[in-house]
Amino acid sequence: MSERSYLDWNATAPLRDAARAALAEALSIAGNPSSVHAEGRAARRLIETAREQVAALVGARPSDVFFTSSGTEANALALTPAIEVAGDKRPRTGLLLSAIEHVSVRSGGRFRRDAIEELAVDPDGRLDLVALARAVAKSPGALVSLMLANNETGVIQPVAAAAAIVHAAGGLLHVDAVQAVGRVDCDIMILGADLLTLSAHKIGGSKGVGALVRRNDDIHFPDPLIRGGGQERGLRAGTENVAGIAAFGAAAAVARRERAAEAAHMLALRNLLEAGLREISPQATIFGGGAERLPNTTLFTAPGLKAETAVIAFDLDGVAVSSGAACSSGKVQPSHVLAAMGVSPPLTRGAVRVSLGWGSTAADVEKFLGAWRKLATTLSKEQRGIAA
Ligand code: PLP
Repeated sequence: MSERSYLDWNATAPLRDAARAALAEALSIAGNPSSVHAEGRAARRLIETAREQVAALVGARPSDVFFTSSGTEANALALTPAIEVAGDKRPRTGLLLSAIEHVSVRSGGRFRRDAIEELAVDPDGRLDLVALARAVAKSPGALVSLMLANNETGVIQPVAAAAAIVHAAGGLLHVDAVQAVGRVDCDIMILGADLLTLSAHKIGGSKGVGALVRRNDDIHFPDPLIRGGGQERGLRAGTENVAGIAAFGAAAAVARRERAAEAAHMLALRNLLEAGLREISPQATIFGGGAERLPNTTLFTAPGLKAETAVIAFDLDGVAVSSGAACSSGKVQPSHVLAAMGVSPPLTRGAVRVSLGWGSTAADVEKFLGAWRKLATTLSKEQRGIAA
């Protein structure tokens, strides 16, 4: 069989060459970054260089970047009633989330269940700003957590407009930019976010590294999740993942430099893919198709399609895609994102996600379309059988 086509970049991206080199270099340094000797200082330098590179990617100051073990941990760290802003120690009583957040945000961090309110999205999967305005008016000073781009549909959220609404009500805005960073501009100041979550493995760093970025040093977390040796200025104890952090920095530097060109490359391929999909299956639905989306993501279905069988069929044809539904503990859960968009359960069960990256090629798209043509032919035969 010819080479495989990996079209599941929203799940994770391959390691960038620069990140691999940084990882290898860091692994050969023996020092602990907390040690004062030369070996320790060499490890510390790698971390601080990475902090500068990650900060530059999102328009922040290096001193406002805190490394974590993942995007999940950065989200968990951010979502606490105890965030202090400019010395104000009053706990935040409410957490407002869009109904399409990643599970690591939906779980609400350290907020009580009954303090969490979900905000509606429209049929294209965009946050309802009127619902947000109503909710912040009822819950002044709330922490609001919104993703910049959805991992399933790729739909980009109106974060800057939301920030104005949240701040006018005295609230704070946390933005999960895990899927957006490296694909669209994620400048923390332009977005108007107070806190930003990033994950290394979506931009070509290694898995198991993330960062929480704050707007400025008015923002403090008196209740870290992990206490101990005082690393990350007391916010995240534990000897740093030096190699993972160095690779994150290297990936961030490439992502910053190449973002515009990579986004244009992905968009051209995605347009090719969607044109082919519509040509083969005029009845296909592209979820969030009416909204602004990331340049790399297509979540689609067609009459009679079952996502789990489709993913296996694509895999057998050498194409890696994923189903729109999340699979945990062996059970396929219907997508809460599509449910929030008002999509009916049978359509939800047929949602297949194709996500491209900087390394994707026209040959990958052709291979995907070839596999889809086969699958669509089988499906339409089945549909005709049902109709007969
Ligand atoms: N937020 C979003 C939107 C994601 O898509 C993901 C991962 O898929 C995460 C957070 C979690 O990031 P990590 O895999 O680094 O824990």
